Amino acid sequence: MIIIMEEGAPDQAVNEVISMIEAEGFKPFVNPGVERKVIAVLGVVNVEKMAVADKFAALPGVERVTLVSEPYKLASRAHHPAGTVVTVRDVTIGSQELCVIAGPCSVESREQTLEIAHAVKAAGAHMLRGGAFKPRSSPYSFQGLGREGLEILAEAREATGLPVVTEVMDYHECEQAAEYADVLQVGARNMQNFRLLQKIGSMDVAVLLKRAFGCKVEDLLLAAEYVMAEGNAKVILCERGIITFETSTRFTTDINAIPVIKHHSHLPIVLDPSHAAGDWRYVADIALAGIAAGADGLEIEVHNNPTKAKSDSAQALTPEKFAEFMERARRVAQAVDRTISTPSMVM
Ligand code: PEP
Ligand code: MN
Repeated sequence: MIIIMEEGAPDQAVNEVISMIEAEGFKPFVNPGVERKVIAVLGVVNVEKMAVADKFAALPGVERVTLVSEPYKLASRAHHPAGTVVTVRDVTIGSQELCVIAGPCSVESREQTLEIAHAVKAAGAHMLRGGAFKPRSSPYSFQGLGREGLEILAEAREATGLPVVTEVMDYHECEQAAEYADVLQVGARNMQNFRLLQKIGSMDVAVLLKRAFGCKVEDLLLAAEYVMAEGNAKVILCERGIITFETSTRFTTDINAIPVIKHHSHLPIVLDPSHAAGDWRYVADIALAGIAAGADGLEIEVHNNPTKAKSDSAQALTPEKFAEFMERARRVAQAVDRTISTPSMVM
């Protein structure tokens, strides 16, 4: 339930609403807003409890009470009508400028990561991605360099100024990863690892939350709610393809999810065309479709020697292909009233 206060409603009215919310056994969450306060009522508002909406509506200073049909509140646009802009160092996600996150699937070595970091920076990427803890289908596949990988990422950040995005798979990896990285990625396989979400929710760090390939948009927004309910509002959502009957690509890009998420949520949404396609040949075109559909950014895998990559070699763009893509991306962004700055303009 969302309680929208009248413009300029006095603090006394707001406090009265808060007291009644607490007396009814719910938890209030006040969004200061620019023009008016909006108060989310946290807790299960089940059919029996719906009647309290009328009690709130009768209080002085309350403009209206909206029953949220969505099971999430903090992630919903009804609770926070304006789009959220997440700021990571000097980079914004959710603003006019699109945010392009690029880099290798895995951090494999210092040389590899630094070379790719410099190349994607030169092409205009805004952030560097790279996995140090890798969720692999087989326990015999490369599992990532762990802490050494984090150290390499931090060095690449130092060298290029690009903020770093890296995946965490386990509760216990979060604090360590946050010492080196700017954004913690929760991968598709861990989108419903609720303890991991709560842990990140208790930290002051941005999170890139990827949609699980077998989950609905609503489940993704509920996962975001887990993070936000603990107090962390720096959530960036990511569509990365879902499982369908189609086998011509590794997953199927749910392009619908981008405008649908924009409609239901205020959180920024980025598209990962690399994991969606699983084939470098399709990555650029799918990414352009994502920009046209309203994505706030992209996450793209780039490798300096794709055929030698230790993970996801088939889907990595070479630095040259990535630079070509960025030129096309600038033009599509412009067509939908967004921007991707040219490299010289990116600080
Ligand atoms: C990744 O980003 O490297 C990754 C494993 O992605 P996903 O969780 O979307 O499969
Ligand atoms: Mn990958």
